[in-house]
Amino acid sequence: MKNPVIVILLGPPGSGKGTQAPELSQRLKLPHISTGDLFRENIKNQTPIGVVAKKYMDQGQLVPDDVVLNMLFDRLSKQDCQNGAILDGVPRTVNQAEEITKKLSSKVSLKVLQFSIDPELLTERICGRIGCKSCGRPYHKKYNPPKISGVCDFCNGTLIQRADDTEEVLRERLKAYEDLTAPLIDYYQKIGVLKTVNASVSKELVLEQVLKYFY
Ligand code: AMP
Repeated sequence: MKNPVIVILLGPPGSGKGTQAPELSQRLKLPHISTGDLFRENIKNQTPIGVVAKKYMDQGQLVPDDVVLNMLFDRLSKQDCQNGAILDGVPRTVNQAEEITKKLSSKVSLKVLQFSIDPELLTERICGRIGCKSCGRPYHKKYNPPKISGVCDFCNGTLIQRADDTEEVLRERLKAYEDLTAPLIDYYQKIGVLKTVNASVSKELVLEQVLKYFY
């Protein structure tokens, strides 16, 4: 069996991580783990994690590291992660990255894809973003519209906008990215596992660049 691999998708909100992750997950046969999706699921089910996370998410702030890491390591301990996983939206702080390296790097290889994007594209990309309430598949009103407005092409579910995809909350999320997450680029460069992708282009061209790192 091949070495398990943890693929980390690193980039600001709106850089296309959540669009590429399902495709990459299918091709590499690795589960897609989005901590944002896990939190939204916990909020929907009104779990204790969901109650804590909601307070931070509503304001565009990061959820505390211990909450994130416990949830993540619990998810990674599941059977479907035995060959690795694709991490989307985690780590988001140097402390999270260090804990992940400490816990996993002796057992798995780490590959980090940095989604580098023109910051001017982010607001338009995020504020037009919609997703399926049932299956989670992502769409964009302008760049990736569904065949029938408001309806998922795959499961006929209803398409909705995320509560934190508004301009006001987005400003906070981008600030959190710059202050706390951008330093990870340096961190992963230093340990020699960083690959950069130009994420300012179409999703097809981004996928092409991403796949080159695997085949
Ligand atoms: P996302 O769906 O990745 O944009 O995440 C939505 C929100 O969930 C973020 O703005 C944070 O409030 C929270 N969140 C998701 N992942 C993390 C993480 N790794 N660390 C801290 N907060 C997170």
